[in-house]
Amino acid sequence: MMRTSIIGYPRVGELRELKFATEKYFKEEISVEELQNTAKEIRKKQWKMQKDSGLDFIPSNDFSLYDNLLDTAVLFHIIPERYINLGLSELDTYFAMARGYQGEAGDVKALAMKKWFNTNYHYMVPEIDDQIELKLAGTKPFDEYEEAKENGVLTKPVVTGAFTLLKLLRYIGSKTAEDYVEAVIEAYSNLLGKFSELGTEWIQFDEPYLVHDLSTQDILLLQKLYRGILASKKDVKVLAQTYFGDVRDCYQELLALDFDGIGLDFLEGKKTQELVVSHGFADGKVLFAGVVNGKNIWKNNYKDTLDLLDLLRQQEIEMVLSTSCSLLHVPYTLRNETKLPKKYTAHFAFAEEKLVELAELKQLSECEYESSDKFKANVLLFEGRPDCDNVAVQENVEKISDSDFVRVPEFSVRENVQKEAFKLPLFPTTTIGSFPQTADVKANRTAFRKGEINEEQYVAFYRQKIAACVKQQEEIGLDVLVHGEYERTDMVEYFGQQMSGYLFTEKAWVQSYGTRCVKPPVIWGDVSRIKPMTVAWSVYAQSLTDKPMKGMLTGPVTILNWSFPREDISLKESTYQIALAIREEVLDLEANGIQIIQIDEAALREKLPLRKSDWYGEYLNWAIPAFRLVHSGVKAETQIHTHMCYSEFTDIIQAIDDMDADVITFEASRSDLLILDALKENNFKTEVGPGVYDIHSPRVPSVQEIKNALDQMLKKISPEKLWINPDCGLKTRGDAETTASLKNLVEAAKEIRDENC
Ligand code: GLN
Ligand code: ZN
Repeated sequence: MMRTSIIGYPRVGELRELKFATEKYFKEEISVEELQNTAKEIRKKQWKMQKDSGLDFIPSNDFSLYDNLLDTAVLFHIIPERYINLGLSELDTYFAMARGYQGEAGDVKALAMKKWFNTNYHYMVPEIDDQIELKLAGTKPFDEYEEAKENGVLTKPVVTGAFTLLKLLRYIGSKTAEDYVEAVIEAYSNLLGKFSELGTEWIQFDEPYLVHDLSTQDILLLQKLYRGILASKKDVKVLAQTYFGDVRDCYQELLALDFDGIGLDFLEGKKTQELVVSHGFADGKVLFAGVVNGKNIWKNNYKDTLDLLDLLRQQEIEMVLSTSCSLLHVPYTLRNETKLPKKYTAHFAFAEEKLVELAELKQLSECEYESSDKFKANVLLFEGRPDCDNVAVQENVEKISDSDFVRVPEFSVRENVQKEAFKLPLFPTTTIGSFPQTADVKANRTAFRKGEINEEQYVAFYRQKIAACVKQQEEIGLDVLVHGEYERTDMVEYFGQQMSGYLFTEKAWVQSYGTRCVKPPVIWGDVSRIKPMTVAWSVYAQSLTDKPMKGMLTGPVTILNWSFPREDISLKESTYQIALAIREEVLDLEANGIQIIQIDEAALREKLPLRKSDWYGEYLNWAIPAFRLVHSGVKAETQIHTHMCYSEFTDIIQAIDDMDADVITFEASRSDLLILDALKENNFKTEVGPGVYDIHSPRVPSVQEIKNALDQMLKKISPEKLWINPDCGLKTRGDAETTASLKNLVEAAKEIRDENC
């Protein structure tokens, strides 16, 4: 009998109940009990639903109040002193690590946050210093296992695997991963021991780090860890779950370890099938075959999947049907999508529908499926999708020539032209674009959507907001202004909505980090610009001030990376289509007097392949040209900015410089400014604004703190190249903290200017 499994499930709640409860808890509007009850309800509902769907392996501990890796850190007592010293409750200490804390108990920053592999989910990076004693200290996985059991559901607890944990930790003392091997083995052994006492049948250790390029040392570490840990597994069966790629560097070594099951990703893992076919699988172990896409929203192609299963079955492998990764990365359910025509949604499968797919595939795989109606309906679906082709767009992409990727004159010439044209002070100050999306801003949008106000009223309100925002920035004394992005729900959705080729969902939220969710649009067909998208807002904002107003666009790579992409044409082709559309907007802004245009590539790194050897060939060789295509048509005196989040780009620094923007701003405050060395070493030509404070937290940075950051920056960046700005947009912040922070930023700029003149 074929069985089915999933690696994990979304947890923010079908209607984002957990997000709202958590935010209320942060604002002290609800008690700890109310928050915990919401969480419990969500877990209960999901377990029940998974059970009812016929799923055989139901996960637990995939739930989190903020982030799974943070949970794992707390589970193993990896909590830096500074958080413990606050003397807060366990839960508030946890949230202090996640978001920083500023209040009576003290003032500490949050842990660093990083992109989770090649997804748009962000995890908290646990920090370990020499003082920390790594040990099993928490009970969350056990509690949730018991809780599910009380609800009549036997689960497969999910815990971050030891290897992945050690690889993702940030070591700030003198110790390294090797120094923790013994402690880790003991902690995980105790964990298994406890599960054995509870009578748990299977436990899943998530080991996605195994899909990277691994060194011999890495493999030795893996072996050392699991030889130790698995020695004490007793009667608990252990699944090593990998995802986001294949395990080509350690396949045989992994099979040789004493795991009972191994989870492999057959979708993103390009070599997975080849590995299994050419090396076989291990006798007596169960293969958890990741065949249903956990990251994208398209229906599973049953024919392809069943062919694959047939092939694997010929090898006499005992199999469990599974998803390619956790369903955390897809929305909850199609049930709440009431507006999209069926001809489109017939092609979609969200988390709940993927449970159905698993059940159907299980059923089909056990019968003569070719004559089954479900099978035939699925085959039919893949024979074509309606309203998808736009021949003009396809031809425009064909016509792109080499010179379309090159902006003239070259950077060094433009830099002088622009210094002359703008006459900005040394260390110009600016922001990343958005200002707080306060309740009134959202209410205006809702009122318009519900037809309570007309378009004129809708626009008038945002114009007022823009005017106030411009005035506020002038009063604060910023040098390059923004209009505030009040009209946007989201930097990708906003553009998608105005281009053809896109589809939009109503409730298809996906968690991005903590309480933050995004609602990625769906690229359905060929993409093109229909009419100007931002010009009116920017022109209006510029009319209110003599200071330069930055036009504000989202770049093609980010638009693609934060949408659900098509799978019937290549990512490159889709991105070039989007690039041509944004290029039209850039030229339109320029023609309408906007002299500085920021093209955000917040998510440029997102689809960077996890293996270095694939970086250029599979990604950067089209992603960087796509950005260049967008701005290569502007005049020398038009200044192009770009912005990237979570600046982990030391290793692709050359590619970033090759985007050929004039200025780049990026997150730096959470990563200890490591990037600065890389900029210097690589002779980075583009002017830079490494964020001087962290906008993901409500705390207000002091003038001194900002000056300290600037002093660090000035050690590596020459003064005429340095810009001063927060590390990202301010839309998630409140008004008061924003004004206070920006005033401090401008004051710090003044003092630094005085000191440098
Ligand atoms: N311009 C956008 C903003 O300020 C950039 C957001 C981002 O980088 N994620 O909100
Ligand atoms: Zn950003």
